[in-house]
Amino acid sequence: MKFQTGLVYLVGAGPGDPGLITLRGAEVLRKADVVLYDYLANERLLTLAPKKARLIFVGKGKKEGRLKQESINRLMIRKALSGKVVVRLKGGDPFVFGRGGEEALALADHQISFEIVPGITSPIAAPAYAGIPMTHRDYASTVVFVTGHESDEKEILNLDWDSLCKIETIVFLMGVKTLPVITQKLVEAGLSPSMPVAVVQWGTLPYQRVVVGILKTIAEKVKRENIDPPAIIIIGSIVALRNKLRWFDKRPLLGKRILVTRAREQANELAVGLEALGALVYEIPTIEIRPPSSWRGIDRAISRLSDYDWLIFTSANAVRSFFQRLKEKGRDIRDLVGIKIAAIGPATAREIEGKGVLVDSIAGEYQAEGVIKIFGKKKIWGKRILIPRARQGREILIQELTRLGAKVDWVEAYRTGVPSRRSWGDIPLHQLIEERKIDLMTFASSSTIDNFMKMAGKRLRKEVCKIPVAVIGPVTATTAREHQLNVKIEPRRSHIPALMEAIARHFSARLTMPGKNRYI
Ligand code: SAH
Repeated sequence: MKFQTGLVYLVGAGPGDPGLITLRGAEVLRKADVVLYDYLANERLLTLAPKKARLIFVGKGKKEGRLKQESINRLMIRKALSGKVVVRLKGGDPFVFGRGGEEALALADHQISFEIVPGITSPIAAPAYAGIPMTHRDYASTVVFVTGHESDEKEILNLDWDSLCKIETIVFLMGVKTLPVITQKLVEAGLSPSMPVAVVQWGTLPYQRVVVGILKTIAEKVKRENIDPPAIIIIGSIVALRNKLRWFDKRPLLGKRILVTRAREQANELAVGLEALGALVYEIPTIEIRPPSSWRGIDRAISRLSDYDWLIFTSANAVRSFFQRLKEKGRDIRDLVGIKIAAIGPATAREIEGKGVLVDSIAGEYQAEGVIKIFGKKKIWGKRILIPRARQGREILIQELTRLGAKVDWVEAYRTGVPSRRSWGDIPLHQLIEERKIDLMTFASSSTIDNFMKMAGKRLRKEVCKIPVAVIGPVTATTAREHQLNVKIEPRRSHIPALMEAIARHFSARLTMPGKNRYI
């Protein structure tokens, strides 16, 4: 028997929210050589794939580059036969109205091994995010999923409308374009014209929109509100529960497009927090970590490690770079025996402990002042201290330690610079700014502002200066104003939770303004 190489995973990406992929789905994405993905599969999930994986868009949406089903099958088969691990990433569940069945049949015909990884399907997820249960003892004990044959009115006429009417919760996929026919047929078949209906567009995503009405008039309303595919249509008395159960679209930042400039670990906390409030976050790294201009300093220090009493790390980057170099020099943590280790901030400490080394002192504060507070109490007169750090590090730490009588050597472990890749994923920065109608930009330090303005360059400066800006505190605010940025949110306390609260307050004040309610 010929040994079968190659393997295809037909994976459900879930309905949109990247958190709704299964653990198994994420696991197989991590080992993909090739990913073939649809327009309904969230592109954020592609970051799970290895860097070297080929990502091929085969979506059936309106985007360019779409392939016909036949060509998708051929491509998938060819890649599998060449021995690749292929992930075919499909929106929702691969076996629910997504032609996953046809793809699996094509694989079976070619004796290619495959695995089906189910996903959370949109007719279940979109109602859930709209606050509409599928069943409830008092409302519905039967549910049906139906295709609305989006652009094919002839096909839809063949449905058995009388039988459909007997089901209490009817869920249509691909039914936006044919909604006028669907509603008319259901009324003709005996369903009450006042039966509640909900239409959920882009369910589970920050730009989810929900339109609620009754069977008789919903088609008209959906047209008026410009709801396009993809959307799920839910018909049944159970829709009434949304009044009490809506939760997702109550979030204060729902659908707000927020650009988060990232410098270090902190910014991620901000992005995650803003997302939890419903925002659509574009995280832009503004600092690139590069190797030091010369390895000489750090190499010399590594060759004389036993001379040092203390090793102080001021950032996670310094930790990564130091341990990487240690390894490259054929050494490891055994060479750190007898040296005490200090870290500034919990993230730095976590990074060190990740290397299998316990930290002797952690400065609770992020600033160099935190370390000084600790060392002020210790006897460091005459002790030798090594600080691997960026060249542009703050001098105060060294000055203070020296004042306390220590002998301090700092070595350049890495350099920081303005990123050469100016983009959010595959979208260039200029396109993001010009096309995505950013509602807010956030800055958590002055250096992120300086770098971001360099990245924006002359070309984008005018656009960028129009976008409302949130800064973390007064120092950052001053820098922002020096760059003529449009500072709108400026919390008094300089930390991330305060910034987040100020942003939420800013937008929820708008939420209650009459005529401005763009959130539903
Ligand atoms: N396999 C997919 C369905 C593919 S058919 C699944 O299991 O969800 C495409 C249709 O799915 C769209 O026309 C729309 O009706 C529905 N759909 C997919 N994602 C959706 C979403 N996030 N919100 C609303 N409808 C969605």
